[in-house]
Amino acid sequence: MRLSQYFLPVLKETPAEAQIASHRLMLRAGMVRQTSAGIYAWLPLGLAVLRNIEAIVREEQNRAGAQELLMPTLQSADLWRKSGRYDSYGKEMLRITDRHEREMLYGPTNEEMITDIFAGSVRSYRDLPRNLYHIQWKFRDEIRPRFGVMRGREFLMKDAYSFDLDVEGARRSYNRMFVSYLRTYARLGLRAIPMAADTGPIGGDMSHEFLILAETGESGVFLHRDLIDMAVPGDDLNFETDDLAAIQQQWTGLYAATDEKHDEARFNAEVPEEKRVAARGIEVGHIFFFGTKYSEAMACQVTGPDGALVPVQMGSYGIGVSRLVGAIIEASHDENGIIWPESVAPFRVGLINLKTGDAETDAACADIYQKLMNAGVTVLYDDTDERAGAKFSTMDLIGLPWQLIVGPRGLKNGVVELKNRASGERAEISAEAALARIIG
Ligand code: ATP
Ligand code: MG
Repeated sequence: MRLSQYFLPVLKETPAEAQIASHRLMLRAGMVRQTSAGIYAWLPLGLAVLRNIEAIVREEQNRAGAQELLMPTLQSADLWRKSGRYDSYGKEMLRITDRHEREMLYGPTNEEMITDIFAGSVRSYRDLPRNLYHIQWKFRDEIRPRFGVMRGREFLMKDAYSFDLDVEGARRSYNRMFVSYLRTYARLGLRAIPMAADTGPIGGDMSHEFLILAETGESGVFLHRDLIDMAVPGDDLNFETDDLAAIQQQWTGLYAATDEKHDEARFNAEVPEEKRVAARGIEVGHIFFFGTKYSEAMACQVTGPDGALVPVQMGSYGIGVSRLVGAIIEASHDENGIIWPESVAPFRVGLINLKTGDAETDAACADIYQKLMNAGVTVLYDDTDERAGAKFSTMDLIGLPWQLIVGPRGLKNGVVELKNRASGERAEISAEAALARIIG
């Protein structure tokens, strides 16, 4: 993409309404624009990141055996009356009436809908287990939308739902998602820590929130320091044959809780003083086993091996996909701007032409640009006639992993400059060597 043709409305000034770094940087870098309170338009640069995150979430869900479908954003109120949540959900639910005076709502979550779909199609325990997910926009009329996309009213969520014959099976499904979440966040360049969460009336230990540590997080968190560098299962993990329960136990064996569940006495007793971490965190996911709460209310049952009808055991598993864009920036930025992890970067390389209009520099840039594209490397080519200083600050602001800087002076000596955004490391090397470093 040539910057001269790209829709990238960067802001010079820091927007006054933004209180935290990620919100400021997303506005300044032209990633999003607010269209009404807590509702955002995703501009090309922001959308590219959102799509990259989505792709990693999707890959890891599929790897763990979940299957993608797509449910609508609008739902009928009647569906929610069956579970009893139409009245109990409260003001966060956006209620809508259609032209026939039918009551509808913009889905804040999809337990009712998926349970209804599943109940209508499944008869026997042989149809279990299943895990179905979608990546879809949600609406919650948050009382105080803030921090940009971190607490929006409209936001993108991955939500998965598991169906099992019994609690033992449900635990296996739960552990699959637990382990797949560890991998998902690691691939996004984040360290997310699972923390015991409220299980509601069901009790038990199958509810965890995943939080990343950040000063601007909305939750207080207390954890054992060793969780911060505990190894995450790698690509050789086999979801069918590996002992996922053991991995789950390894991660839940050390103390970690948000302020809602925190028990100071237990924390002090279980964690040696030098290992105690009290910090703040951002919730980027939540997994939850809720048994037969919806399946009983909505007649989602199967015939078991003994011929008797039983309600299915269910769990739900959410990831805040759009919140993650902000969360990644909170975890990875400096005073000059965003520092994208390679896995989610909107472009891998920013190519900077220091003297647009100079025939030799233009030709060298065009050649590099073409070679990168041929190699399948995404590149944003700054071919504008801005001055060099402005070009550098825009590139630092939008945070692409590599900057390739080409100017007449370097070319005379047969070199270009390659800068790594994360480390700040710079090298003056030949264009061929720079391309080899980037393409690998
Ligand atoms: P929170 O406690 O932050 O309000 P929640 O517990 O209500 O979130 P869940 O129902 O568990 O949220 O939703 C799953 C995930 O969706 C959350 O872990 C979070 O990452 C994301 N999420 C929830 N609410 C919002 C929101 N208003 N804006 C952006 N992402 C959200
Ligand atoms: Mg939650």
